[in-house]
Amino acid sequence: MECTRCHGFMMKELVYDLLENDGQFYVSGRHWAYRCVACGKVSDWVIEQNRQVVGKAVPTDEQTRNAEPGAA
Ligand SMILES: [Zn+2]
Repeated sequence: MECTRCHGFMMKELVYDLLENDGQFYVSGRHWAYRCVACGKVSDWVIEQNRQVVGKAVPTDEQTRNAEPGAA
């Protein structure tokens, strides 16, 4: 797999999901991701999904309140 930022080599590695509660960290899960050995960019399916969501227009709270009922 090639890095989209620098075209470096990306290695598959196990990533741990951490939760913090009152200063204590807990491992809540783990999944596989790709990390670029040249620039350090990390990519997995969650990150890619979030990048696609950010690219779409998200209405603000005010726009949602002012929208007419039934209007899309
Ligand atoms: Zn890279």
